[in-house]
Amino acid sequence: MTERGRAWAMGLAMLLLMPLVALLLSVASPRLGDTVTWASAFGLVGAVLMALIVALVSRVRGLTRLLGVEISNRLHRRVGVAAAAFTIAHVITAVAHSPRGVAMLDPFAVGWPLKTGIAATALLLVGAVVLPLKSVRRYGQVARVHAVLGVLVLLLTGAHVWLFGSLAVNPLIGVPAACLGAVVLVILVRRWIVRPALGRGAYLLSAVRPESGNTSTVVLAPAGPALDPPPEPGQFVWVRLRRLPVAEEHPFTIAASTRSGVLELTVRDQGPFSGGLLDLEPGRTVWVDGPHGAFVPSPTTADGGLVLIAGGVGVTPIMSILRAHAAASDPRAHALLLAEREGEALFAAEILALSRRLDLSVLRTGGRRLDAGMLRAVLPAGTPPSHQYFVCGPPPLVGAAIHGLGSLGVPAGAITTERFG
Ligand SMILES: Cc1cc2nc3c(=O)[nH]c(=O)nc-3n(C[C@H](O)[C@H](O)[C@H](O)COP(=O)(O)OP(=O)(O)OC[C@H]3O[C@@H](n4cnc5c(N)ncnc54)[C@H](O)[C@@H]3O)c2cc1C
Repeated sequence: MTERGRAWAMGLAMLLLMPLVALLLSVASPRLGDTVTWASAFGLVGAVLMALIVALVSRVRGLTRLLGVEISNRLHRRVGVAAAAFTIAHVITAVAHSPRGVAMLDPFAVGWPLKTGIAATALLLVGAVVLPLKSVRRYGQVARVHAVLGVLVLLLTGAHVWLFGSLAVNPLIGVPAACLGAVVLVILVRRWIVRPALGRGAYLLSAVRPESGNTSTVVLAPAGPALDPPPEPGQFVWVRLRRLPVAEEHPFTIAASTRSGVLELTVRDQGPFSGGLLDLEPGRTVWVDGPHGAFVPSPTTADGGLVLIAGGVGVTPIMSILRAHAAASDPRAHALLLAEREGEALFAAEILALSRRLDLSVLRTGGRRLDAGMLRAVLPAGTPPSHQYFVCGPPPLVGAAIHGLGSLGVPAGAITTERFG
């Protein structure tokens, strides 16, 4: 992680902890303690968790480089459940302690401080219910509805805390909570207004090169400044076909990049968005946001090698790693296991050429399901702890590889994964 990224992550961790430390100090303080009730404490923890969700999903580059898309998504889900649980605990304790009882939940009989809280809680629950619709609606549509609901919940929660004001009179809590609110606002404004307004990430599609079957490589040349910082091997970008920041966007790996900023994305037509990207005429502008992701090998160590496992188009970040390592004459041992449909051999000629420039052994499944025998064939003897393991592809393949590697003694911490689905 870069120095700047580390500073971002540390700063954010401190900001998130500040209100909670202040809460503990307030409870312990006889003078200030009476301003803190169980209801306000639960609500404050819920609000801090919501701020953490904003940081996780707002593409703060230091965080995306540190955590990667997999851990960010997993954390987002878990923190979302925890935020909902604390919010419900906040509502229950508030109702239990209020002389009005459940009547305080009638939005037509209460003032704005409570109206905003009721609306935030209702939308939070709707947001959680919308997610399982992923199985019946398209991923991109569900993700956008979820994001809009998330922003509304956040704004209403901010208004609720502001209008209620009972915590804000306690300076121990009011000051750190205001700092946290300001940082969340800065993150949101930067993500949704400043970066899109600056027109960053405009790229001209210069060619679409067929690879194999329904997969082609899209070549993008920067129409303005190139990605900053330059991508590391294995990272990805979010692609939009329209400039509007709320337009649909999907993630694609930077399979190759040049010093001048040209990007190559190898895309399989899997639905409306990927198909639409491949159908674009040369000369069209698209918008990319990145680079993001932590599917990046650590720099050369004397004895550590790499085991790379890919399913289908999940070979893209692995191609990016192999191309970069060949260009840098990386001396490490590379073992590649490719799970492909029968008759499909994406990048076959180039992988053969790379195996002459790198210490690279390749095993193809040839349409068979990944099994322990195949994994054993590519694993180095004794599964040395210094090896790094990278798995990318559809979720069932990634799950099978993690299970198989675990049963062969590979520690979970040594495996980096990216699920395309
Ligand atoms: C970090 C990352 C890098 C990726 N890199 C590549 C790549 O280099 N080449 C490539 O062909 N594909 C890549 N994908 C997968 C690609 O994003 C999806 O195939 C694409 O978004 C499908 O959208 P669609 O509208 O064409 O199809 P849809 O019909 O919407 O979806 C087809 C499948 O893709 C999944 N999907 C849709 N949107 C997303 C999303 N935002 N994130 C994750 N999965 C999604 C769906 O769950 C479904 O299984 C990558 C995914 C991730 C998470």
